[in-house]
Amino acid sequence: MLLIGSHVGFKKETQLLGSLNEALGYGANTFMFYTGAPQNTMRYKVNDDLTREALEVMRQKNIDYTKVIVHAPYIVNLANSDNEDKYNFAINFIKSEVERCEELGIKNMVLHPGSHVGCGIELGIKNIAYGLNKILKDSSVTILLETMAGKGSEVGSRLEEIFQIINLVEDKEHIGVCLDTCHLSDAGYDIKDFDKFLDEFDALIGIDKIKCVHINDSKNERGSHKDRHENIGFGYIGFDTLINVIYNERLTNVPKILETPYVDREYAPYKYEIEMIKNKKFDDKLLEKIRAQ
Ligand code: FE
Ligand code: FE
Ligand code: ZN
Repeated sequence: MLLIGSHVGFKKETQLLGSLNEALGYGANTFMFYTGAPQNTMRYKVNDDLTREALEVMRQKNIDYTKVIVHAPYIVNLANSDNEDKYNFAINFIKSEVERCEELGIKNMVLHPGSHVGCGIELGIKNIAYGLNKILKDSSVTILLETMAGKGSEVGSRLEEIFQIINLVEDKEHIGVCLDTCHLSDAGYDIKDFDKFLDEFDALIGIDKIKCVHINDSKNERGSHKDRHENIGFGYIGFDTLINVIYNERLTNVPKILETPYVDREYAPYKYEIEMIKNKKFDDKLLEKIRAQ
């Protein structure tokens, strides 16, 4: 069965139940959320009653909570340790996010590996792995390293870099990968022949490590290293290639998550994009339809 959803909000008053209801409103059967604002480290207390109710509704609606994804905040950076206080803060904050996932019953957390900011890719990789080994101590949550576009000094735009990080992580059971189609294309990978890409991934890292796929079109050409997401079928990757990724049989049990932009920064596109994906037919009037909702 197709596992499709999108990034959704997580609000103080409604928490996991609110996120779930937003996802259900989009016709999704899975979802991803930040446990607070991605740009800051302020976090409020988890309300266990709301969590219990959300898990109960998921059970009734046949939504597998073990496939629901949390995205770690992107303001903290594990790749650079020049400032020891900042580096330790990043480790501790991500560790506390893992604990929040445990409170919420969430099993998988996506993490941007980080930017080396001048210390070099090799040291960057070591810093990330060192931090992950601290974070994953006694963790029941799996951290999914996201493949990056290669903007600035981002680590993880090459599969070899992801492979090297995983190699240095002691707890192999709790480390995985999240592919992002926009990032892969921006990084230079050709995903038109997605099976060929998966063969390459499988030979290097092992396909079983892929636990999430972010489905985004790209505003830029392959190899641009820009990381600007576009609505499904309206960018350089294109509808057919994305459909082939979404329906690839080797990734059937892996959740597919849309992180496409709001139309005019105002209208959530997900309900419409999910419908279009289910129909497997591109609608070139989709954006107009979304604006008129
Ligand atoms: Fe991400
Ligand atoms: Fe992503
Ligand atoms: Zn991105």
